[in-house]
Amino acid sequence: MLLEQDLKDISTSREADDLEAESAEEILTIAVKKYHPRLALSASFGAPEGMVLLDMMHRIEPEARVFVLDTGRLHTATHDLVDRVRDRYGKVVEVVFPRAAEVEHMVREQGMNLFYSSVENRKHCCRIRKVEPMRRYLTELDAYVSGLRRDQNLNRHDTAKMELDVGNGGLVKFNPLADWTHEQVMSYVDEYAVPINSLHAQGFPSVGCEPCSRAIQSGEDARAGRWWWESDGVKECGLHLSEDQDGGLGI
Ligand code: SF4
Repeated sequence: MLLEQDLKDISTSREADDLEAESAEEILTIAVKKYHPRLALSASFGAPEGMVLLDMMHRIEPEARVFVLDTGRLHTATHDLVDRVRDRYGKVVEVVFPRAAEVEHMVREQGMNLFYSSVENRKHCCRIRKVEPMRRYLTELDAYVSGLRRDQNLNRHDTAKMELDVGNGGLVKFNPLADWTHEQVMSYVDEYAVPINSLHAQGFPSVGCEPCSRAIQSGEDARAGRWWWESDGVKECGLHLSEDQDGGLGI
């Protein structure tokens, strides 16, 4: 466990290296001590990783903050999970919405389901409904926590347990589950009866927006159900991409 006095230098590369040996619970404890209440968990409510972290953070600090981006196109099951978390933990979930004027302009100009017509349009929709609200919300914080794991896809292989999120203004990003496997995540869910999205039981490994995610078949990649009509390229909404990966678009 890192010593209390080390926390002041947590943003240095040496501290980032030290954190690689720490457990998820220890990293969250360090993050909460240093940054709460200017720290929040970013949870999609569509992946079990975020719910595991929510449970862990709640045990460490019941007032620990959590936010979710409501794109306006989420599944009802995802909204249900937000309310189940309110009931289970007595926790305020900070729901962040896109700017209404930008969504109205987009759908008037390009239609309700513009994302099916081109990758560019899909990224535009993600930018309006996810990336901009995320960046706006993060300006209130000094650090945030995400549920990224290295074995989720090739783009996440280099995920560090602590890094600076340059694309979102240079705040600190903790990825306490970076070295966890899916089996470890589900084992924690079972052990602590953590509430998760009901669509996982219907073949959705990760649940995104309703028109852009589907169940997968046995043997398909876990991300195959996201933007399944796109044949190649980076299947990310842009929230977790570096400027190099997304060509500087930040989406
Ligand atoms: S996942 Fe689909 S509906 Fe959701 S923001 Fe991206 S393109 Fe739009």
